[in-house]
Amino acid sequence: MAPRRPLAVRRRLVTLAAVPLLAAGLPLAAGAESGTTATGAAPGAPAMDAAQPADLVEVVVADEDGILDLVDAGADVTEYSRPVDGGIEVHVVATQAERDRLRGLGFAVGETVISAARTEATIAEREAAIRRVDQALARTAETLTPLRSEWFESVGGKAYVSVEVKTSLGADSATVLTASFGGQSLIMDRFVDAGQYLYHRFDLPVPVDDVAAEVTISSSAGASITVPVTQWLGDPLDEPGPHYATGFVDHYMDPTEVYERIESLVAEFPDVAEIIELPYQTNGYRRHAQAQIDAGLDLDEEPDRAFYVTSHAWGHEGGNDLLLETRHPAADNSPLSVSVDADKIIVSLATDGDGSLVSTAAQVVDAINSSAQASALVTAATFRGSSGAGVAVVDSQPLSDFLDAPESISREPVTVRAIRIGKDRDGSKTGVFAYAQEHAREWVTPLVAVETAERLLRNYATDPDTRKLVDDLDIFIIPSVNPDGGHYSFYDYAGQRKNMTNHCPAATADPEARDAWGVDLNRNFSVGSRLDGYSGASASCTSGTYSGPAELSEPEARNEVWLTEQYPNIEFAMNIHSYGGYFMWPPGAYIADGRVPLPRPTLGEEDYFWAASSHILSDVQSWRGTAVWPGRTGPVSDVLYSAAGNSADEHWYNRGIYGWDFEVGADLWNEADGEWDPVGFQPPFAEGYEEAMEFSSGLVGMLEVARAYGRDGRPPRTTLELTDDGVTFEATEAVTIHYTLDGSRPTYSSPRVESAGLREGAAPVAVGPGSTRVHWFSVDAAGNVENRYDPVRGGNNYRKKTVTVD
Ligand SMILES: [Zn+2]
Repeated sequence: MAPRRPLAVRRRLVTLAAVPLLAAGLPLAAGAESGTTATGAAPGAPAMDAAQPADLVEVVVADEDGILDLVDAGADVTEYSRPVDGGIEVHVVATQAERDRLRGLGFAVGETVISAARTEATIAEREAAIRRVDQALARTAETLTPLRSEWFESVGGKAYVSVEVKTSLGADSATVLTASFGGQSLIMDRFVDAGQYLYHRFDLPVPVDDVAAEVTISSSAGASITVPVTQWLGDPLDEPGPHYATGFVDHYMDPTEVYERIESLVAEFPDVAEIIELPYQTNGYRRHAQAQIDAGLDLDEEPDRAFYVTSHAWGHEGGNDLLLETRHPAADNSPLSVSVDADKIIVSLATDGDGSLVSTAAQVVDAINSSAQASALVTAATFRGSSGAGVAVVDSQPLSDFLDAPESISREPVTVRAIRIGKDRDGSKTGVFAYAQEHAREWVTPLVAVETAERLLRNYATDPDTRKLVDDLDIFIIPSVNPDGGHYSFYDYAGQRKNMTNHCPAATADPEARDAWGVDLNRNFSVGSRLDGYSGASASCTSGTYSGPAELSEPEARNEVWLTEQYPNIEFAMNIHSYGGYFMWPPGAYIADGRVPLPRPTLGEEDYFWAASSHILSDVQSWRGTAVWPGRTGPVSDVLYSAAGNSADEHWYNRGIYGWDFEVGADLWNEADGEWDPVGFQPPFAEGYEEAMEFSSGLVGMLEVARAYGRDGRPPRTTLELTDDGVTFEATEAVTIHYTLDGSRPTYSSPRVESAGLREGAAPVAVGPGSTRVHWFSVDAAGNVENRYDPVRGGNNYRKKTVTVD
């Protein structure tokens, strides 16, 4: 038997036969059933006639020495052997001529084990299989998946077209898609984010004179599809009542004014409104006072910054009264010394034998910090972490907190306030939470909040639709989440985005960096955060997207979480930002490596986000015609980028609140230049007013959505259809569908109908051939189950249908 074959023989066989056997793809431990092909003889063997087919033939030898003789004779001996009567049977790859030669040498050449013809058949079989694969590949070389193709009207009544298509070859940047409609052909933009292809679109909607009924998308790789162009938004809405009043804001308001406004509203409408004081005070519109001293001139003749001091007291509590002086002593060879005279910190610089100043910045910093008197008032540091080698110059600098707001703006920590509006504010009504100005410079956003509160309160007595909202909802509005940053933006640095809290170490805490301090509050939340590894927030304390040192490190962020925990009836939230005209929802963050987002909402939840969006955005459009583009509507991570640790994700993933983000201030079409113009954070008030009005209309639209949700007691209905791709469902509203295919009772744990992909519809449920019993139920956003079936406790009134695939 093979295992007993002498090792030496085995080794020789392998040595001699390995090359052709390996080349033929034959495993070294090949058995009789292994396919083989005629590949020629072992090296040194008499040449086989290549024109002749080679079979696998048996040769019987007497013993192991016989095998060696066969090898020595140049036969192409396989590794196969078995004991037979009269010796050992081995197999040899041999043409007819080779068989004759071996017979001539006295070998007992026997039957053909595997004929050349049979090997040829195997080869033919393989080639046919490869042809089939190639043909299949050719057929599916490119798939174009239409995502959205829409037209819409926007400000001024002009029409625009927006198209989104995904190609299966999109990862290859050489794949070019062209959209043709209404007599024009335009190359589409390839949307790539975090290194990953998402889909093709027009980055900006295309203005058209006439709306084409369909659009044809052709790929440079050959595929082509034609899809209808449908209308986005524009459905006529109920006109507001004849006495519905709007337009309650007439200038940009700083956070102090905004809070005063909601307090006066509550004083005027105490029956339906109250103020909620949030528990976490901000750090306040205040800073420690600072002064900076230079060191001579550098090579560019610019003063070289040497060091700076920071007061322990807040500027308004004494820091601003301090003065820092560096003096030139009268004497030569004078030592460096520091003294304090009332509010004056005096540094007497050292001199050399010629009376020249010799104290370096580093030496002055050490002297101040080791002076008991001076260090009780200030801390000194070299500029931007430098070694402080420059020689300090004579100077006199008053310390300042550099805050320019009038004294009427408090320098104390601020109690952030919300206005709560509703007839029954006892937690029994559906709660809605709207909050503005997480980002300080977004001046229009508090106006959206204030305008909405005023519309609700001032129309309550006279407008029946407003009365329904106030009677049936519990509305929480924080008009300014970030009052400190807001004040800083109004009075000191218009571009301020973050709060005012300085988490920077000495190297970046000099006064010239003061506009860069602070935490991006919309990156400070605890879901999908930077610290969790998600993308789109910075660890740098001077970055515009600094996440803060820890999740929820900032009182402003904790206030939002507190409100949603304190009032668990809150089921909807709107995070109001500017600008750009976006309308977005979770997931808002992904891990960059692989662009892995937070878990997507279920297909039903996503459909609900879309359906609600349509209502809310139609309300936005009702004011002056502004259409938020379809390409700027969707999950943050699908249309924009990743924003690790944002508040909408916090509310959705931690508390199940339908959380949206408004970016008010849609681009405006510039007819003269034929282009879209962005509006910026602080447009002239006339434009800011229009933005506040239209997005207030949208916020009222969200209240209508929330009220409908709170009153929705009607179960959804679905129908099942069997298509070539599997089972699909139609529903009367946005639903999540759970199903089973094994005849069991469907529950909330049963598989769900899922999305086919980003910005696509439902994936069909695959069913095998034969009959399949489909059991299913649907559940809407408000939790109503089809047929009032109870998936938890049981019953059998779920939906059932048998489908048969031939
Ligand atoms: Zn923002």
